[in-house]
Amino acid sequence: RLPVVAIDGPAGAGKSTVSRLVAQRLGLTYLDTGALYRAVTWAVLRSGVPLADAVGVAEVAASTPVELRWQPDLRVFVAGEDCTDIIRTPEVTQAVSQVAAQPAVRQVLLYIQRQYGQRGGIVVEGRDIGTTVFPTAELKIFLTASVQERAQRRWQELQQQGITGLDVAAIAQAIQKRDAQDSQRQVSPLRQAADAVVIDSDGLDVAGVVAQIVAVWQT
Ligand code: C5P
Repeated sequence: RLPVVAIDGPAGAGKSTVSRLVAQRLGLTYLDTGALYRAVTWAVLRSGVPLADAVGVAEVAASTPVELRWQPDLRVFVAGEDCTDIIRTPEVTQAVSQVAAQPAVRQVLLYIQRQYGQRGGIVVEGRDIGTTVFPTAELKIFLTASVQERAQRRWQELQQQGITGLDVAAIAQAIQKRDAQDSQRQVSPLRQAADAVVIDSDGLDVAGVVAQIVAVWQT
């Protein structure tokens, strides 16, 4: 099997940007598992099934085809429809942790993630990759940063996208809420694998984090 690099960590730690660049540097394929949870969440929201309806949510997850395509950038499809951008809206972001906490949803997506990872050759980003999805990954990184720093970066991103009116404190609160939900769920919560290399990105830029991961990989 080709290597698997697992990159886990809390919300807003920069996993996506870093994972994409690490994949590029190592000649591996980038796999974003959060996008799968977001896609299912979008399907649930669109279906009108209440988030608290565990059976209804499970049914949506089981009956909705969710697919990743590399074109060559990674895109996410729900029932053949490209939903790459819409799964990043605040509505989906706010709802995703509740949907991801449903064991039936995780079961469906566990299968899909393992299928995409079957042959290895991937950098996989998520919350439970090193612990549950690919516990035998050749390299496990736990990427973290202080809530303050993650909120600050997110705020800057939003500014660049022309989205104003949110303050850093509100963003920090939303991030903490999602982390709490992701850490406290029953099935495969957000956890640092025992054999993960921890990288705290406070005070580091993206290039610095990528360089550290590539260096660890090469040793
Ligand atoms: O990484 P991203 O912010 O896109 O993830 C969205 C949500 O999907 C997380 O907050 C979490 O609830 C869920 N998720 C998960 N397990 C993963 C990846 C994401 O539960 N491996």
